[in-house]
Amino acid sequence: MGRILFGLFVFCLVGTAVFMWVKIGFSLERAPTPSEVPADVVGSQPSQSTTQIPLTNTSSASFRVPILMYHYIRDYADRTDDPLGVQLSVAPDILSSQLDALVAEGYHTISLSELAEGKYGEKSVILTFDDGYTDAYKKALPILLDHKMTATFFVVGDFVGRKGYMTRDQITKLREAGMEIGGHTMSHVNLANQTRENAYTQISNSLVDTEYVFSYPSGQYKAETVDLVFGLGVRAAVTTNFGVATEQSSLFELPRIRVKNFTDVMQRINEEIAIADGALDPSQRSKD
Ligand SMILES: [Zn+2]
Repeated sequence: MGRILFGLFVFCLVGTAVFMWVKIGFSLERAPTPSEVPADVVGSQPSQSTTQIPLTNTSSASFRVPILMYHYIRDYADRTDDPLGVQLSVAPDILSSQLDALVAEGYHTISLSELAEGKYGEKSVILTFDDGYTDAYKKALPILLDHKMTATFFVVGDFVGRKGYMTRDQITKLREAGMEIGGHTMSHVNLANQTRENAYTQISNSLVDTEYVFSYPSGQYKAETVDLVFGLGVRAAVTTNFGVATEQSSLFELPRIRVKNFTDVMQRINEEIAIADGALDPSQRSKD
C-alpha cells in the first residue's frame, strides 16, 4: 500500500514538473503559431488565468519599467463640449516637452517585444499609443523621431483607413520608421463580455501584420481573455491598470501610466515606482 501511494506521489510530481516546463517554455521562447498551441492551454481555466507568467525567469533582479499610455495627439484642451475627448488628448507641443523630460532624466525607449525578451535597462520606458488615429502618424511620429524615440501603436483592425484613422500605408511607414505595431481587436469590443469565439476572432484577426503585442480595448478583459491572448502567441499585453512593469508583473496584464495634457510625466513615473517599491501607498497616487 505504502509503495503504491509513493508511486502515485512520484507520478504526480513528475506530471506537474512536465506541465510547468511545457507552459513556461511556451511563454518565454514565444512565437507559437495558433495551430501549435495545444487546445487545452487555450482557455482551459476560464475562472483562473493560466498565464501568470512572470516577466522573466532569467534573473531575480528587480526592475521598474514605466509604460506610458497615450491616445490622441492633438490640440484639444479647449473643447469643453467633448470632455472624454479632452481626457484622451495630449497636445503635440506637450508630448514633445514630456519626451524632453524623459530624455533629461536619462530614459530611453524600448518596445514591448524587447520587454518580453528581457531587453530592458535601468531607465527603460515604453510609449504606447492606442486606437491608431491619424495623428499617430501625422503628429506623434515626427515628435518621436525628433527625440530618437520609438513607441508601440495599437491599431483597431476594422478602423484602418476610416476617417480619422491611419491608412494601411501610414501604418507601414510607422513600422519602417522603427515603431512597433500591436493589435487592439477588430472593432474595439469590450472583451469582458464577448463569447470565447468572438473574442478569439477579434483578437487573432487584429494581430495580422503586427509584432504580436496587444492592448485590451478600454482595459476590459476577463481571465479567459488573458488565456486566449497567451494561446495566440502574443508576446506581451497591456491593460489600463495603474503601475509600472516589475519582476512581479504578468506579461499579459501589464500596467500603464495614463498621460493627459496636464500630466507631469516624471512625477507620475516616480510615484508609480515608489508604489512598486512599497515606499508610497497607492492611495497617495495623484488623482487621475
Ligand atoms: Zn482603445
